Amino acid sequence: VLALANQKGGVGKTTTAVNLSAYLAARGYQILLIDIDPQGNATSSLGVDKESCDLSIYDVLNDRLPLLDAVVPAGQDLPRLAIVPSTSVLLGAETEAALTTADERERRLAEALTTLPRGFYDLVIVDCPPSLGLLTLNALTAAEGVIIPIQCEFLALEGLAQLANNIELVKRTFNQRLDILGVLLTMYDGRTRLSAQVADEVRRFFPNRLFETAIPRGVHLAEAPSYGQSILHYDPASRGALAYSAVADETLARLHLVAPVPVAAEVLR
Ligand code: ATP
Ligand code: MG
Repeated sequence: VLALANQKGGVGKTTTAVNLSAYLAARGYQILLIDIDPQGNATSSLGVDKESCDLSIYDVLNDRLPLLDAVVPAGQDLPRLAIVPSTSVLLGAETEAALTTADERERRLAEALTTLPRGFYDLVIVDCPPSLGLLTLNALTAAEGVIIPIQCEFLALEGLAQLANNIELVKRTFNQRLDILGVLLTMYDGRTRLSAQVADEVRRFFPNRLFETAIPRGVHLAEAPSYGQSILHYDPASRGALAYSAVADETLARLHLVAPVPVAAEVLR
């Protein structure tokens, strides 16, 4: 399980969750994308009609319905990608409120994931809301890896210490397996000094965690969701598409889901 988390809004969590999921599914992995954000942006970005969904992630968290009952297909283009939709801001708020008093309130998502048949999905990706509330806490408690998207802008690092502390706290209290899988620079503009500065600071703040690939700012990435498509189908030749494809490969390598290329001993000598 991987969670896309950053309490800062609009940094590219959903864009990354959707496009990373799409590329991993296209590589042949069975992917389940869980939209735990009441805004439901991941759900609509993939063209899933919220009105037509009977169940959402909130039914799973509130009423402990089996996770599989809420799964909907992402569409014909991506047969290996399925989604658990988020359908209503109201239900999201209700869930956040209900969980406040629930037993083991941080474990609802983790519990729901145990109801999946073993090996049914190769990877589960969770798109978090822009807060450190109970929904994000559920995602972090269920995850082995967090990917933190960081928008290359002034004040990009604001709040990162708080996020890092929270991750550390969740790790100590609820979920020892949790680790930061990677930090991803988004809306990167190689021509500006600001982007380079943010990259340097992030590298210092999260040594060895920064993805080599940065996601460039690109209008196609912003347009694709309005067509209900991932960038893989909307414009696979765009720079944004190539970047997300590379991030998918880096993710697989970090998860050791692909064998690293063996280096012959002779070459090393
Ligand atoms: P929220 O915190 O509200 O959930 P988020 O962190 O999920 O936001 P996104 O929704 O992915 O962020 O992105 C915010 C906006 O920026 C969206 O309109 C999205 O289309 C756009 N966007 C994301 N990445 C890029 C990019 N690399 N280039 C251009 N636009 C982008
Ligand atoms: Mg989002």
